[in-house]
Amino acid sequence: MWRSLGQLWQNMKQKAILKPLQKAFPIALPPPPRRAEPQARQEEVHACPAYMELKTRFRDIGRLSAIGETLGRDFLTAMPSGAYASRLGQLAFLFKRMHEELTHEKMQQLLDEARAHEYVNPNDWDKWDSANLQEMENLYIRHCHIGGELMEEKARLEYVGRSQHSALLAKGNWEDAKPLLEEQISLHRKIALAQQKTTNQTSAYESLMQNYMPGITLEKTETLFRDYARDLNKIMPKIEEQQKQRTPPLPLTGDYDNTAQLWLNNSLLHVMCFDFERGGLYETGHNPVEGGTPDDTRLVINTADHRNFLKMIKSSIHEGGHGIYIQGLPRKTWRYQPVGQDLGAAVQESQALLYDMIIGRSKAFFTYLSPRVEGLFHDLGNPELTAENLYRLRTNVAHTPVRRGADEVTYFFHVYARFQLEKELFDGKLNTADLPEAWNNKIHDLVGIRPDNHKDGLLQDVHWFVGKFGYFPSYALGHMIAAQLAEKMTEDIGTFDKYILSGQMRPIKDWLNEKIHSKGRLKSMDELIYSVTGSDLSHEPLLRHIEAKYL
Ligand SMILES: [Zn+2]
Repeated sequence: MWRSLGQLWQNMKQKAILKPLQKAFPIALPPPPRRAEPQARQEEVHACPAYMELKTRFRDIGRLSAIGETLGRDFLTAMPSGAYASRLGQLAFLFKRMHEELTHEKMQQLLDEARAHEYVNPNDWDKWDSANLQEMENLYIRHCHIGGELMEEKARLEYVGRSQHSALLAKGNWEDAKPLLEEQISLHRKIALAQQKTTNQTSAYESLMQNYMPGITLEKTETLFRDYARDLNKIMPKIEEQQKQRTPPLPLTGDYDNTAQLWLNNSLLHVMCFDFERGGLYETGHNPVEGGTPDDTRLVINTADHRNFLKMIKSSIHEGGHGIYIQGLPRKTWRYQPVGQDLGAAVQESQALLYDMIIGRSKAFFTYLSPRVEGLFHDLGNPELTAENLYRLRTNVAHTPVRRGADEVTYFFHVYARFQLEKELFDGKLNTADLPEAWNNKIHDLVGIRPDNHKDGLLQDVHWFVGKFGYFPSYALGHMIAAQLAEKMTEDIGTFDKYILSGQMRPIKDWLNEKIHSKGRLKSMDELIYSVTGSDLSHEPLLRHIEAKYL
C-alpha cells in the first residue's frame, strides 16, 4: 500500500498538479513516503559462503573494537582512578582477543576461497564487496605475523602512556620520561619487524606509517614534504615582512567562565551539523583523542582554559571535524565491516584541519564569533574581542616551540621535524638517549627556535608516549588534502564565507558527506582524492591557500 501511495505521490509531483489540487481540496494528503533504509549489506546473503563467514567474523571484530572505543572514552572522561589497573587489564585482553580473531587459523583459507570465488564468478561481486574483501586481506596481512602478546602489550602501554603523560609533562624531567619512551620504541620496533615479513615495506618506519595511513609510501611523503618545505621557505621572509606591517594582536585578558565556554563549543558543533543524537562533547584532564564509532561519536577535548577561550574552540572544531567524518561513514550498510571504516589518519586529519585551520581561522569565522562571545562573556565593546583582533590572534605567524599552539604557516615545520626524528629512530640512526639534544637541534633548524626546557621540547606531545609512531606525518598530509578539497568544494558550492557568516554550515558537511565520508574505504586515499578533485595529492593547493591568506 505504501508503495502505491508513494508512486501516486511521485506522479502527482511530476505532473505538477499537487498545488492546484491542494488549493481546491484542502484535505490532508498522505505524507511523502519515507525513503527506504539502505539494506545492511553485511547481513546480506552472498553467493560465496567463505565471504559470508568472513563478514560475520569481521562484524564480531568490529563489535570488539567498538567496545574498546567505549572503554577508552570512559577511561579518559569518567573512570575513577581506582579502576586504573583493572581497566588496563580489560583493554589489553580485549585487544588480544581482537588480534586472535583477526589472525585465526581459518582466516587465510577463507580469504583464499573468497578470492577464488571472486575470480571465477566476478558478477557476484560488486565494487563494495570486492573492496571489502581487499580490506579484509590487507588487515590480515598486516597482522598475521604479530604475536598476540605484542598486541596485548601495545594496548596496555598505550593506556599507561595516556595516563602518565600529563604528569610527566608537568614534571618536565627527561629522566622520568625516558623509561616509558624506551619501552614504547622497543615494542614498536618488534611490531614493525613482524609486519615487514608479509608487507613490502622497505623500512620499519614506513611499516608503522601504514598502520595509520594504509597505502602511503615513505618516498611519496618525503617528496611532498621536501617540495612544500622548499616553497614555504621561499615565501617565509615575505610572510614575516607582511606580518611586521600588521598591528600586533591584543592578548586576551579576561576570565572566561568554563560552563559558558562549553555551551559556546556545543553551539559551534551544532552550527557544523555534528549529530548530537549520536555523540557529544566531553572534557578530559588527559590529552584529547580522535575516534569513536558512527553510532557513538563522543568528542573528547581538553578541559577549558579560563584565560583563553580560543583554545577550546580550536580543540572542539578539530575533534568535531573528525567526528563528522566518523558519523558520515556508511554505518547502515557496512557497520563494522572493513570497507565501512575511515581511510586512515591523513584523511581523518584533513577533515579535522579543514575546520580547525581553514574554516576556523577565517575572517568570516571570527565575524560570526565576535558578537556571540561579547554577549556570552558580558564584555561588549572590548577591543580584544573584535573580529579583527580574534583573527589576528589566530593568524599570527610566530616561531614558537610548541606544536599545538603553532600558527597555520609554521605548523608544517613542527610536523616535519617530528617526521624526520621518528624516521631516524626507527632507521636505527638515533638512540632514545640522544633524543633531547636531537629534538632541540631539529626544532631549531626547522622551526627556527630552540626550546629552553623539555616541557616545551620533546615531552609536549602525547603521541610517542602512547606508541603512535608514524602518525605525525598525517597532520601535514591532512593539511594538504584539506586545502585541495577546499579548492574543489569552493568550485562546487561557492566560498565558505556565506555559510559561516550565516551559521548555516550544512552545505559544507553535506559536500563532505557525499564526496568523502559515505565512501568509507571503497577507494584508496589516492584514488579518492583523484576522483574528487581531478588531481593527485599535491602540496600546491596548500601553498596557494597560505599565499592568499598570509601574503
Ligand atoms: Zn586530529
